[in-house]
This record gives sequence, C-alpha cells and structure tokens, in this order.
Amino acid sequence: MQQNVAGILQSDKFSQEVHLKGWVRTFRANRFIALNDGSTIKNIQCVIDFEKTDESLLKRITTGAAIAVTGTLVESLGKGQSVEIQVSNIEILGDSNPEKYPIQPKKHSFEFLRENAHLRVRTNTFSAVMRVRSALSFAVHKYFTENGFYNVHTPIITGSDAEGAGEMFQVTTLDLTNPPKKEDGKIDYGQDFFGKETNLTVSGQLEAETYAMALSKVYTFGPTFRAENSNTTRHLAEFWMIEPEVAFNDLDANMDLAEDFIKSVINYVLENCLDDLTFLDKRFAKEESTKPAQQRSEFSLLEKLKFVVDNNFKRVSYTEAIDILRNCKPNKKKKFQYLIDEWGADLQSEHERYLVEKHFKCPVILFDYPANIKAFYMRLNDDGKTVRAMDVLFPGIGEIVGGSQREERYDVLLEKIKTLGIDEKELWWYLELRKFGTAVHSGFGLGFERLVQFTTGMGNIRDVIPFPRTPQNAEF
Ligand code: ATP
Ligand code: MN
Repeated sequence: MQQNVAGILQSDKFSQEVHLKGWVRTFRANRFIALNDGSTIKNIQCVIDFEKTDESLLKRITTGAAIAVTGTLVESLGKGQSVEIQVSNIEILGDSNPEKYPIQPKKHSFEFLRENAHLRVRTNTFSAVMRVRSALSFAVHKYFTENGFYNVHTPIITGSDAEGAGEMFQVTTLDLTNPPKKEDGKIDYGQDFFGKETNLTVSGQLEAETYAMALSKVYTFGPTFRAENSNTTRHLAEFWMIEPEVAFNDLDANMDLAEDFIKSVINYVLENCLDDLTFLDKRFAKEESTKPAQQRSEFSLLEKLKFVVDNNFKRVSYTEAIDILRNCKPNKKKKFQYLIDEWGADLQSEHERYLVEKHFKCPVILFDYPANIKAFYMRLNDDGKTVRAMDVLFPGIGEIVGGSQREERYDVLLEKIKTLGIDEKELWWYLELRKFGTAVHSGFGLGFERLVQFTTGMGNIRDVIPFPRTPQNAEF
C-alpha cells in the first residue's frame, strides 16, 4: 500500500526507505520541503541535499507543486517535528506556478478562498474542516447502524409540493421559451417529463415515515434543496439533512434520540479527529479574539464540544420560553429586532440565541409549540392549540434540529390538511399510513452543515460544504 504522511509521522521505523507523494506547502533555504498529502493536518519535513540536486529541479519545487519523494526516515533535530525524511530522490509530478498560484503560504480571507473553492481545500483550515465533515458523516451512519436503524434513500425529485418546509426548485424538461399551455393559458405539466409538476425535495421526512411504518427505525441522509432567498450564515440552497424516523417513539423518546445522537457523533470526532480539532480550536480562539468582548465565546471550541457531550440539554416548553423572553432585558429594553409580547409569536434566531447563550447557557430543546406556526403533520396536543414539536437550539448556531411527534390519527390529520387548504389528493399515500396499522411515531431533521459548523467552529455555513450553493452563486 502507498504510504501516507499520517502513517509515517507516527512511525518509528528509522532508516527505512519511504515513498511519499503529495504537494509542496513551503520550500525554504533550498533544503526543507513541507509536504502535505491531506492524510493529516501535519506536514512532513523532507530534507534535500541541494548540492547534489540539479538547480533546474530545485527551481521547480514551489508551493503547490505535486511531487514524489523517496528517502529514509530519520529522527528530526529541528523544532516542531519528531521525524523527517532525508530525501534520496525527488520527482516533480506536476509543476505549480509561484507567480500565479493563488494559495500562497500566508493568511487568506474566507471571501477570497470562496472564490477559489476548487483550491481552498489545500489550506490547513479547509482540509481540517473537510476531514472533520467526512468523519462526522461516517459517525452518522455508524450511530444509526449500531442502533438498529435502516438507511433509506428517499427521492431527490418529489411530486408533492406539500412538504411545506420551504420554497422549492422546480424540475422540468419543458422548453422554457415556449412551454405547452392548456386552454386556460396555464402551463400544461401533463406534457412535462413526469406528467406532473415536480420539484427538488426540501425534506425526505414524508417518505421516511412510510418506511418507519414497516422497518420501525429508519433514517435518510441526503441532499435537500430550498430556494429561500435568505443570505444568512446558516442557510444554503443545497444542504444535507439527517432525518431519522421511528415507529412507536413519542416526543420524549424523540428528544432522547436527538440528544444521544448529537452527543455520540460529536464524541466520535473528539476521539478520532483531535489533530484537526486542535488546529480548529486555535483558529477559533484567534477569530474570537478579534471580536468585541461581549460577543466573544466564553468557551474554547474544544470546551464547547466537551460541554455538549457531558451535559444534559435543557428541555423547556414553548410557553415557558415565551415567559422568559417576554420578561428578559433585551425585550424590555427593545433591543430585539422582533419584540415578544404575546404567546403565539414565532421565535426568531435572536430569541433562540438569547435562550441558549444568555439564559440557559447550554443546548436547549424547546417543545410544544403553537400549532399555527408549525407544519401540518405535527401531533396535536390535548389542549387543542399546541403541537408535539421540538427544536434543538445550539450556541452560536440557533436551530440545529427541527422535529416532532407525527399526527397518527387519520381524522385529525385530514381535518388539519383541509383547514390549511392543502390538496388532500396530493397526500393520499401519506394519509393511507393512518388507515392501515397506524402508530405513534416521531422523527426529526438535523442540518448536517449546521452540525459541521458547530463542531468546527466555523462562522459561515458556506465554509463547511465543498461547493456552497447560495442565491446568485452556483460556481464550480
Ligand atoms: P430555520 O428556521 O433555521 O430556517 P427551518 O425551521 O427551516 O430552519 P426545518 O425545516 O425544521 O428548518 O429543517 C430541519 C433542519 O435543517 C434545521 O434544523 C436546520 O438544521 C437545517 N436547515 C434548514 N434550512 C436550512 C438551510 N437553508 N441550510 C442549511 N440547513 C438548513
Ligand atoms: Mn428555514
């Protein structure tokens, strides 16, 4: 097997011949190459004997060049590394260009790096983030597999526009310059590819529910799309969502699952990505130090992650939360953009963050929201005005999970669908679940990028997905 930098840095097989391929991060004094191959945040130092190396070859060892080295592993006398490679042969696999290569060994703004998203993963920060993202993704599948869940691939193209989670992107093969029209002048989707109007999915939940009603415990983890024109640091037009759905789980069991799941995957990266997290912890501290004192995080990144793993999430009803918010300082002093004056108000991100960051100072699960600010499928409580919804709120992020116990009673669900003016014919199959062997069931959606954001301490969601899709931007 090809050796990699991560493996060799941990090796103590001195005097052995090693072969490595990677990219030059820096080359100094015509002698020291810092080589990186992406297997770890660390570079390995490769020392060349410049007197024995061709001058023309030396000139080609520049930042960004792809090289292959052969040499012997020796203990390093230099600071900052325990081993290095005494190079006996070096081959340039692909030249870089010192004048034109955008990723010079210096600090670049995230803005600049977003414009160079094809190269930004060659920086320490982005390679660390993307390795953590990969580990988190693995941890998601590991958790569910070990806990008896089946992975269901729910459709990306959906024929129902009743998912209700956000604005949708239409999928069509019709000629947009000259679409077929019906007599009433409306577009004739009967002639479209699927014979009906279709969109990209905003959530796999409704389909996942059908599978939970046979396999009991399922999850879907796939891309979702929302054409929401919100340019925030927490919204993407294309993002990945983790959606478990469990038969026989009530809302309490749903909260237990969400909490246990999040702790488990964060713990996995704490145990398996410590080099990357340590690097990101320092980056986070540097960024925090540039903020005004009141806005700075009280915790370091690693402390935040450990805190989440070690402490219970605070469970608070919407009604309690409204009482807290109504009487809190920023509300009384009119510091909130949206003031809270009565029960029934939808919570904005500023309120969620106040509860988490200022009031409780820990992750919070809010539950039992007013029915009319939540989706049609959530189970109505006996009070007739709240539903069994839950949102998990995280420091620095706000909402990371949205979920609920689902309405399993046919009549109640149908009534709700009618009241909201949703076309019940669109949901015939969803309603049938309530006709044949219906059961209490619950689930939630967790935005994968928000989880990666929290875990890596990155401030902008565009920097935790390889190629972000946002309004006016689908480059790469
Ligand atoms: P928000 O109020 O933050 O827009 P939402 O209420 O629209 O969230 P849900 O429909 O409940 O969110 O979706 C479930 C989860 O998906 C959210 O908790 C969040 O983690 C994530 N999510 C929702 N919209 C986006 C988006 N545009 N980009 C990235 N993640 C998202
Ligand atoms: Mn939203």
